[in-house]
Amino acid sequence: MWKLVLPLLSSLFVAALNGQSPGPITSPAPDERFKTDILLVVAHPDDDTLVASYLAKAAYDEHRRVAVVYGTRGDAGGNRAGNEQADALGAVREIEARRALASLNIVNVWFLEGRDTAGQDVLQSLERWGHGRALEQTVRLIRLTRPEIVLTWLPRVVAGENHGDHQAAGVIATEAFDLAADPAVFPEQVALPRNRTSINNLTEGLQPWQPKKLYYFSDAYDTSFMDTFGPRYALTEVSPSQGTSYAVLAVREATHYTSQLGFPELRDALARGDEKAVVALLTGGGEPLLPSPLRLLLAKSHVEAKATADIFDGIRPDPIVAADQPRPAATPAPGVSLTLGDPWAFYERFWRAHHIDHLARLGPSAIAINPGTVLRVPMLLHNETSEAKEIRVRPSSIPEGWSERSGSGVYAVGARAVAAADVLLQSPAQENRALTEISYAADSGGQPIGSLTLRVQLHRGGLPQ
Ligand SMILES: [Zn+2]
Repeated sequence: MWKLVLPLLSSLFVAALNGQSPGPITSPAPDERFKTDILLVVAHPDDDTLVASYLAKAAYDEHRRVAVVYGTRGDAGGNRAGNEQADALGAVREIEARRALASLNIVNVWFLEGRDTAGQDVLQSLERWGHGRALEQTVRLIRLTRPEIVLTWLPRVVAGENHGDHQAAGVIATEAFDLAADPAVFPEQVALPRNRTSINNLTEGLQPWQPKKLYYFSDAYDTSFMDTFGPRYALTEVSPSQGTSYAVLAVREATHYTSQLGFPELRDALARGDEKAVVALLTGGGEPLLPSPLRLLLAKSHVEAKATADIFDGIRPDPIVAADQPRPAATPAPGVSLTLGDPWAFYERFWRAHHIDHLARLGPSAIAINPGTVLRVPMLLHNETSEAKEIRVRPSSIPEGWSERSGSGVYAVGARAVAAADVLLQSPAQENRALTEISYAADSGGQPIGSLTLRVQLHRGGLPQ
């Protein structure tokens, strides 16, 4: 290596000795090997399979440059291929992801150090990932890859897998989307190196970068709530360059995830070359293996573009400078009030801060839990008055078969204070995929102060809440 490096230094030295002018010293442009059209930010090796049908179109047929950031190595997943678990499984899954993406000609792939956290609570995932470190790394990778578009998981509670890590990837990607253009953020990343051809440079030499558009996709069981908020891509569309459907190309990509992919019938159909069977297995049944069509949601755009148009609508090659300044938190409602607590309370603030308020208009809150398990409904009791209050929490509608374990009662809330009132409800043992409404109300001093409703689906195989 030194043999390659030394000639550059010594040629300058020789030129100086000979009295020749070495010419103006130029600062190199950003490294084109990393320039990216789409940066995918996800949580686990195999999350890419959910959008692989679109990535195949972008990579094979539109020749887009795609790069991927994984928040974790998927170290808490199971393993269908062998005994390897925990960090060993993470090592396995990293290579599976690199092979899967290489099959789509995607090789610029990075892994952060988040720990795979199997649950539905985004706040627990952010804690386990090391939120600040993961954000710093994601901002760095946006500045390095200079994506036109960032594509990531929907940061919202949904009835579905609703993986907390998926939401964490969406939260961090959204924060990084808004921060990467600001040179005051992680300034050591954008400070020029003291002497770039020499050693021991401790600043990074990147440039601020503003991606133009931010899109989300979701692991909800039913993604139709995203209709009208973004484009749809049909899995049955045939790739002109590959001569087969994007569904088949997505399954081909997914087969690299040997440790994760079940569904032997899908592999068999692929091996037989039975494309019709592949498409039927992927998209058929009440809950298809992949959302069909694939729906994306346009979270924000700094160029003029129609929400439902193709994701490259309005994208021009010139860099832009537009950047959103985070908005301050909303003023709390006056008086005494009742709201859902974390993670719903977090998302209310997050969407506002990042100018993605339309996520609040995607329909009422819903969540899925395993039948027979306990549902936690976190509530917050706010008292903005100057004196202590007593607030009574009570159910206004609990469906048949459900019973409250704890939570109802009278809470003392100090002046200008917030108290948590967690309601725990035992769910019926029977699966029920219809959304059931659970409502609570609160009053203080004989006056109603608010109510809230959560829609719940009892679905086997889900993650703990
Ligand atoms: Zn995942």
